Amino acid sequence: MDLQFLGTSSGVPTKARNVSATAVIEASGRHWYLVDCGEGTQHQLLHSSLSVRDLRGIFITHVHGDHCFGLPGLLASAGMGGRSEPLDLILPAALQDWVRLSLAASETHLPFELRLLPVEHLGQWQSEHIQVSTVPLSHRVPSVGFVFTELNPEPRLDTQRLEAEGIPRGPLWGTLAKGLAAEHDGRQLAPRDYLKASRPPRRVIVCGDNDNPPLLAEVARGADVLVHEATYTQPIVERSGNTFGHSTAAAVAQFAEAAGVRNLVLTHFSARYQGDPERSPCIDDVQDEALAHYTGHLTLARDLQRYHIGRDGRLVAVSS
Ligand SMILES: [Zn+2]
Repeated sequence: MDLQFLGTSSGVPTKARNVSATAVIEASGRHWYLVDCGEGTQHQLLHSSLSVRDLRGIFITHVHGDHCFGLPGLLASAGMGGRSEPLDLILPAALQDWVRLSLAASETHLPFELRLLPVEHLGQWQSEHIQVSTVPLSHRVPSVGFVFTELNPEPRLDTQRLEAEGIPRGPLWGTLAKGLAAEHDGRQLAPRDYLKASRPPRRVIVCGDNDNPPLLAEVARGADVLVHEATYTQPIVERSGNTFGHSTAAAVAQFAEAAGVRNLVLTHFSARYQGDPERSPCIDDVQDEALAHYTGHLTLARDLQRYHIGRDGRLVAVSS
């Protein structure tokens, strides 16, 4: 599984960072999922190799505009681009009427079925290759994290079972290996019964805004990657006396260390943190604060950067 960040700024865009949007890309490299869709997300996509035609689902963590104002434009462009496959949009129930009205009032008629699913009742959602569930978080409004788990990754033929059932080696095996149904001795063979995962499934958690990282204790155990906001550093919060429902880099790092998170990705940085190390406060302050508490593999997300979970389980930056 890969991740590509389309927006890593909190609240407002900056010249270097757009507002929230994160792509989760299947191991096959084709189908992908979008978590949050801040304004301008479709412009960011133009700078990536991702296509809205290959988008399998959109997941919105909470109602705030920096996480959803990009939806009408992205949906309209998907329609103009000729998308015809249905698209699931999982979002807070309170946003459903807004999406419908935005499209209706602008006479935007999508050529594909848009299925609006309330995140509050999502339970478990799945596509052919990925299962998604939610974890409740704490913010000024209800907010969730989305847990992406691979289903049956890199399936290989279960040759032991095939041999045990007397299914002869040959074209039948080839058919099943391609994921197609076959017939033997008048018996229907379902490919899912003869294909098994060749490695453990990856689990990636992409969180919405959250001021209480320990809420993730259960789902973070054994997860490959945790993507969490670090809107502030401690000195900034101490000066203002308020976290506004957000986390500091220290709070997230302390949690990730205690939970044994292998790869921690911080994002959703306050626009006050500057890229130039000569200026203050600087994005390096966020990194330094996190590193003081976390000994795992730390990444500060950058707009348009794509990351890959390598064979050794480490998240590495790749060119997209
Ligand atoms: Zn936000």
